[in-house]
Amino acid sequence: MTGLMQGKRGLIMGVANDHSIAWGIAKSLAAQGAQLAFTYQGDALRKRVEPLANSVGSSLLVPCDVEDVASVDGVFATLAREWGKIDFLVHAIAYSDKSELKGRYADTTRDNFAKTMVISCFSFTEIAKRAADLMHDGGSILTLTYGGSTRVMPNYNVMGVAKAALEASVRYLASDFGPQAVRVNAISAGPIRTLAGAGISDARLMFNYQRAHAPLRRTVSIEEVGGSALYLLSDLSTGVTGEVHFVDSGYNIISMPHPEALKA
Ligand code: NAD
Repeated sequence: MTGLMQGKRGLIMGVANDHSIAWGIAKSLAAQGAQLAFTYQGDALRKRVEPLANSVGSSLLVPCDVEDVASVDGVFATLAREWGKIDFLVHAIAYSDKSELKGRYADTTRDNFAKTMVISCFSFTEIAKRAADLMHDGGSILTLTYGGSTRVMPNYNVMGVAKAALEASVRYLASDFGPQAVRVNAISAGPIRTLAGAGISDARLMFNYQRAHAPLRRTVSIEEVGGSALYLLSDLSTGVTGEVHFVDSGYNIISMPHPEALKA
């Protein structure tokens, strides 16, 4: 299967390095003929993102810090000038103070709650609105979430609350943009070793626990998330919007670990 994304152009936000989930998605889209633009957060990351972008034939690289609305506006002004329209957008951005990704949720501070919500949740709404304005022939928008949104995951804390709000945003935005044939979905990925993932206290334990107890008895790769993203961003899924699609080796369906796994 090749050329699913031939003739389509889109923006990838959230590549920090070649372990990033956004990079797994970018590779799968590029392999199917998509033309990609990338954002990077600050000069330190530009050094990492630029060679990756070049390797998939992209020369459209724009700085963006989602805490700064002018920089968000700058990204979409560049896309409007260079391309005129886009067909898809990937938002793979999250942040919370590491010192609060441990201990009790109850101890979350007001400042970090607000910062986490703005970067990890509100930025999606702000960006999706601008992206939808550039999707003149319809389009597809995707964000990344985690199962800590609906079930308590130790140490995930305020990020779980932000992901719950992000998933609700997916549904409201899907309703807002549906009449203009713009679809909005999320992938809920299982734990993957990335920069952001490593910020959560006991990340290794979470990773090993899910590997032991998920139906597939393994974790997922960024390439597997990329495969599902390709489906949601391509015309294979034109009837799908407002969905949270799990790519987690089936971990979300489990109530109690299998007795055999507990004995092991
Ligand atoms: P990552 O560290 O590779 O990517 C996180 C990205 O967020 C980075 O590129 C960083 O530059 C960007 N970012 C943070 N603050 C920003 C800001 N103010 N402005 C612009 N960009 C900013 O980690 P990742 O795991 O690939 O994370 C991507 C998404 O996937 C996140 O939403 C994360 O919550 C989600 N996710 C990750 C996992 C996991 O286990 N790694 C599981 C499920 C969902």
